[in-house]
Amino acid sequence: MLVIRDAAALRAATQGWKNQGERIALVPTMGYLHAGHLALVARARELAPRVIATIFVNPTQFAPHEDLGRYPRDEAGDIAKLEAAGCDLLFAPDVATVYPPGFATRITMAGPAEGLEGTHRPQMFGGVALVCTRLFGLCAADVAVFGEKDWQQVMVVRQVARDLALPLTIETVPTIRAEDGLALSSRNAYLDAEARQRATVLHAALQHAATRLRAGAGAEEACSEAEARLSEAGFRQVDYVALRRAEDFAQMARLEAPGRLLGAAWLGQVRLIDNILV
Ligand code: AMP
Repeated sequence: MLVIRDAAALRAATQGWKNQGERIALVPTMGYLHAGHLALVARARELAPRVIATIFVNPTQFAPHEDLGRYPRDEAGDIAKLEAAGCDLLFAPDVATVYPPGFATRITMAGPAEGLEGTHRPQMFGGVALVCTRLFGLCAADVAVFGEKDWQQVMVVRQVARDLALPLTIETVPTIRAEDGLALSSRNAYLDAEARQRATVLHAALQHAATRLRAGAGAEEACSEAEARLSEAGFRQVDYVALRRAEDFAQMARLEAPGRLLGAAWLGQVRLIDNILV
């Protein structure tokens, strides 16, 4: 696997592949890789003969009080995992490579970026749209692979790709979970043993709400019940539990079409998110 940090070397590698008619699948990440990320790499390998993974902890999507500075890192471990997964190239740029001096573009997102994560982390989706657009261009990607774990992010990236007519397709992979249901996340590394046990309640509460919705309960009722379960289980703060229509992320008062139940809550200083299809 090639490990590349600068844009010119990346361009040389992608040009070589393109000249041979080889398509490129991209897996953007913030590193500290786990089996969820590696499932994206496996999907990318099915989609194109060349796979690029990126590791970049993107400062434009973090607010000043968030965990940018302490985001977990293990580049040597990540390289070994990507190599074993059959990735062709790791692009691990520094901030000045992604946002060189004089970089002046910003993206403001509406539509699926509004509400939920967009309310609680107003900085995030503009930053995600910006870094993804930049990485798609730098990596000359024909297809990019994202995890359903970050469902609202998938909706935002699809929107920006469509709105800016970016010449690539967006593919998704279902959420990979631990045996007890907790969605794998780099941020799980922040959880101590007790919090790690409590964390399973997030997925369980969403599943319970899904059962209630299928039985005819209204979204408000089912979601407030789930929020109460989380508080009872020791979550310090519940940012939201919400039902959205799967197709277009519109709000639904009850389950009248395939939906996504999404939740975000804090265990101590750790913010967890999850979502399920319902
Ligand atoms: P991150 O490194 O957290 O920015 O995530 C990089 C990509 O991996 C995003 O597309 C995530 O949605 C995806 N991802 C993270 N965790 C999981 C998981 N448990 N299952 C599937 N995809 C995931």
